[in-house]
Amino acid sequence: MRKRDLEKIKKDLLEMKQKIQSGALEMGDKDLRSDREDLLDSGDVATVELNQSFKIRLREREEKLLKKTEAALLRIEEGNFGVCEECGEEIEVKRLIARPVAGLCIECKSRQEAEEKSQAQQ
Ligand SMILES: [Zn+2]
Repeated sequence: MRKRDLEKIKKDLLEMKQKIQSGALEMGDKDLRSDREDLLDSGDVATVELNQSFKIRLREREEKLLKKTEAALLRIEEGNFGVCEECGEEIEVKRLIARPVAGLCIECKSRQEAEEKSQAQQ
């Protein structure tokens, strides 16, 4: 991987980490707001509960993402960033730029997803 690519990825990761920690990750706020507005209209108790579990799920997702982001930054520090955790092959740079927290190459990732799917069906 070129140094320039790695530096860009590192910058992205640091920005993402900051966003998560300051609660400014945009995926949450807007959705939550519109949920609350619906809530005021309907006055439905079930919706309140739904909104709560939605918030919890969102928080869990953010925590997961934060952990992944920190793990990726650690891998950069250790100099083994971009290596697939599963098979040890190099992950495509294109994939890493699009998704810096990726710890698996595309092949391992799709295999994992297929396994998760088949488990969910059981
Ligand atoms: Zn792999």
